[in-house]
Amino acid sequence: MLSESDAQARNVGYTENAATVDRNKYSSYMPGQTCGTCSLFQAQADGKSGDCLLFSGKRVAAAGWCSSYSNM
Ligand code: SF4
Repeated sequence: MLSESDAQARNVGYTENAATVDRNKYSSYMPGQTCGTCSLFQAQADGKSGDCLLFSGKRVAAAGWCSSYSNM
């Protein structure tokens, strides 16, 4: 799993819990956005995590979020 303290994760404000996003710092965040609804997310069978195309080789939390969120 990707750690919130990972340097690349910190660069994009990754958090394992989207409810904790600092909305002053990340004004692009919209309530309801999570890794689980991001187009870069590839869900795993457990439903709680998935691969992220941004962080190749590391899983992210389905309930997480980062500033590279995309719904395209
Ligand atoms: Fe989550 Fe999407 Fe950011 Fe990857 S790019 S960490 S799936 S919000």
